[in-house]
Amino acid sequence: MEEQLRKSDTLHVIGELAAGIAHEIRNPMTALKGFIQLLEDSVKEDHTMYFNVITTELSRIDSIINEFLILAKPQAVKFVEKDISQIMKETVDLLSAQAVLHNVQFRTYYEKNLPNVFCESNQMKKVFINIIKNAIEVMPKGGYITVSIQKGFDHKVHISIRDEGTGIPAHKIKKLGEPFYTTKERGTGLGLMVTYKIIEEHKGTIEVESKLGEGTVFHIHLPYSLKAGMK
Ligand code: ADP
Ligand code: MG
Repeated sequence: MEEQLRKSDTLHVIGELAAGIAHEIRNPMTALKGFIQLLEDSVKEDHTMYFNVITTELSRIDSIINEFLILAKPQAVKFVEKDISQIMKETVDLLSAQAVLHNVQFRTYYEKNLPNVFCESNQMKKVFINIIKNAIEVMPKGGYITVSIQKGFDHKVHISIRDEGTGIPAHKIKKLGEPFYTTKERGTGLGLMVTYKIIEEHKGTIEVESKLGEGTVFHIHLPYSLKAGMK
């Protein structure tokens, strides 16, 4: 419990700081992108390879900045009562093309008449995107992602996202959500940090269950309403 508290305090400070820096980096980045474009158009020799590297790396910086900006308190956070399965359906649609490319198929089970969750739709979508993207990325040979959403008897909605990927060694599970923890060559190690932070802001909890070589399940528990969660 204490461990968890300390982790979230640190996340808070890192979040504020990082978001501030991210804001500052954004403007010079825009200028850089613009001038590189101009340069590419005016340079006579063929330096396509150099420009490709520059563009790829710039877009990598972009995606890191975007992750960090999510940690900033957004100007207008709009928490509304929302059917979480609707948000999940939109996310699955959004990622279906990427899934097909990886031979990944979705199986979805949504309980009918789910109670609404008091949430920020865009942030919740971000959570689902981050977890599902990871799931797709750990199944290079394809497989199923099983999503289920159910109402619990504990005033919580239970969401689970299961993959048939590599799995995570038990001692690494506590590293998930740490900034920059990644095992991927081109990973940022920021997706789960953002995910954990958003769930925490919704007074929810997240658990990871994993078996090496078999797959991983992310369980998310969200109170029906923020008020109920704070009692
Ligand atoms: P990134 O995807 O950029 O590496 P994340 O924060 O999204 O950053 O994930 C951090 C790490 O957690 C990943 O690099 C991977 O090692 C591990 N991980 C996350 N989701 C899964 C999963 N579904 N199966 C196996 N490992 C996972
Ligand atoms: Mg990721």
